[in-house]
Amino acid sequence: MSQVWNFSAGPAALPREVLERAQRELLDWDGSGMSVMEQSHRGKRFIAMAARAEADLRELAAIPDDYAVLFLQGGATQHFAQIPMNLAGEGDSADYIVNGHWGAKAASEAAPYVRVSVAADSKADDYRRLPARAEWKLDPRAAYVHYTPNETIHGVQYHEIPDVGGVPLVADMSSDILSMPLDVRRFGLIYAGAQKNIGPSGLVLMIVRRDLLARATRPMAKIFRYAEQAANDSMLNTPNTWGWYLAGLTFQWLKAQGGLAAMAERNRIKAERLYAAIDGSGGYYRNAIDPAARSRMNVPFTLHDSALDARFLAESEAAGLIALKGHKALGGMRASLYNAVPPEAVGALTAFMRDFAARHG
Ligand code: PMP
Repeated sequence: MSQVWNFSAGPAALPREVLERAQRELLDWDGSGMSVMEQSHRGKRFIAMAARAEADLRELAAIPDDYAVLFLQGGATQHFAQIPMNLAGEGDSADYIVNGHWGAKAASEAAPYVRVSVAADSKADDYRRLPARAEWKLDPRAAYVHYTPNETIHGVQYHEIPDVGGVPLVADMSSDILSMPLDVRRFGLIYAGAQKNIGPSGLVLMIVRRDLLARATRPMAKIFRYAEQAANDSMLNTPNTWGWYLAGLTFQWLKAQGGLAAMAERNRIKAERLYAAIDGSGGYYRNAIDPAARSRMNVPFTLHDSALDARFLAESEAAGLIALKGHKALGGMRASLYNAVPPEAVGALTAFMRDFAARHG
């Protein structure tokens, strides 16, 4: 198959231009006669590339100087545990908003390191709506408030940043980072696994207000301490050099696309088009999420008769529409529409859905 449209939730589609450039540069990167993967991370070529990636990201997302940008490893999951180690002292509590699978996981993984208080939880509604800010039971003495602006599995997304007063807001933006302009000042710490909107897996991007780095006072190995990573330009040990390089290419690609405002507009149009196809199908396809909470990145949907699921998946794959199977927790389908999924892919998907419904009425 020459060209497919990849709707995977992650690892997800990367911009074709980024992959083509990486391919061109693979055997001779930056005139070095070798690939980027074979360079020392202490070499001047790699250090210049790493600095440019950070500078491009700072420009794209308007990241103020009093925030550090870190290129880490361990997946978002490792940072579920590492964030409380760094931001909470012994005996502190932290407020967690549980609005889907990942928020629940973040809370349970934090529990060995901080007193977790679940300040809002929409499990009773099967995570089909979002707990509004007014429902959050926040403690003004909490070390931080953690939430998941976009829940990848459940397909719910906060479209506004909640105001939590003076308590640092921590956001797991794994599945919506860089999909729209980022108001960094509203957050204490933002983190994201790279494998959806940034690059390959194995890289975690973190943007953290520098004053919060001083909070890590309990005994822990240096490798866990964000302040050490910040002081060492994320090169306390060997970083994920390949991931960092590809992230840098993605940042350049985003700038060439017109930046995050342009991506937000493109993502809005893509999502509206898919939801319109679902809502306009006369019940053939359904998305049960509260319309105000619908995600622009991950769109779960079901067919009116689940007996058709296997056929839908086989036929869509044969048509070059890949990875539409829903998460096992929900069944049905899910289309992820990250930055690198072009509008043509959504056009191909909605045309296929209409055609499928007409053929299997
Ligand atoms: N948070 C969110 C919102 C996610 O979507 C995912 C992965 N799908 C994770 C955390 C876990 O990420 P990782 O596999 O990088 O640990």
